[in-house]
Amino acid sequence: MACIEKIYSVSAVIGNGACNGNCAFCAGKYLRPQASDSPLYWKNYASAIKLGARYGGWSLSLTSAGEPTCDPKAVTKALGVYAECAEQGAYMPNVNLFTNGILLGNAAWCDAWLPEWKRLGLTNIAVSVHSVNRWKQGEAYGINKPYPQHMSFIPPEYYGYPEFQTIFANIRKHGIGVRTTLLLRRGEVDGWRSYKASVDRLIAMGSDNITSWPVGLPDGSRSEYTPSRWGLATIRMWLKMNAKLCHGHVWGGGVYDYNGAILRMTDYVTGEIGEKRQWIVGTF
Ligand code: SF4
Repeated sequence: MACIEKIYSVSAVIGNGACNGNCAFCAGKYLRPQASDSPLYWKNYASAIKLGARYGGWSLSLTSAGEPTCDPKAVTKALGVYAECAEQGAYMPNVNLFTNGILLGNAAWCDAWLPEWKRLGLTNIAVSVHSVNRWKQGEAYGINKPYPQHMSFIPPEYYGYPEFQTIFANIRKHGIGVRTTLLLRRGEVDGWRSYKASVDRLIAMGSDNITSWPVGLPDGSRSEYTPSRWGLATIRMWLKMNAKLCHGHVWGGGVYDYNGAILRMTDYVTGEIGEKRQWIVGTF
């Protein structure tokens, strides 16, 4: 059995798996069996946080087999358990909630939940971006309304996805950091040109902390939506030539400074590296 030398982050799959998106490439169904609300699950979750903190972990990531914000009570419970662990010394500097962002466009919804989540220790909300174009983002999530094709422009009521700026403002209003996860997907962001254009647009819209990884299957293998190897290589080359490498990850990828914005590129884990990148909590 391998010894643990370091755990970088703890990821927990929380909530009932409900989702307000309808993505063609949904990988949530693979994680759905890990979703649980049993006492054993929460015990394992607390143990993972404590173990992670003991082995140098700096971040707790909350995700779901669906969309975590669709089960907000589970998010509150997960943060409450974390807050108890933090009080006992298992503090994590970064506590991130990963979301598709759809509900965060609703200011009243944010006013109802975010103050409590912030109080319990949530530091960042990471919004998943499939396209910086609002219509295409709604298309990727399968939530736009079909509009009459003869129209020369798309009226706002047909857009299923909120304005990015509205989402970012609703999060910041409650003192929570905004992050974006720019997903690399074949046909959308799949090479250096589309990556650069997306990153520049996100920065202009107010997101200066952008993490990217290629979409694929949860075990790290490629799917039909994964960009070509060459496309991914051009993104890495562009980063090398246009951004300053702050530090590389032992598992591949790295963190870059791009005109003051932070760009993270994460590759798949491809082999034994002696250190554990993530400790994932689910019911196994
Ligand atoms: S938002 Fe996530 S869980 Fe929901 S349908 Fe899309 S990929 Fe699946």
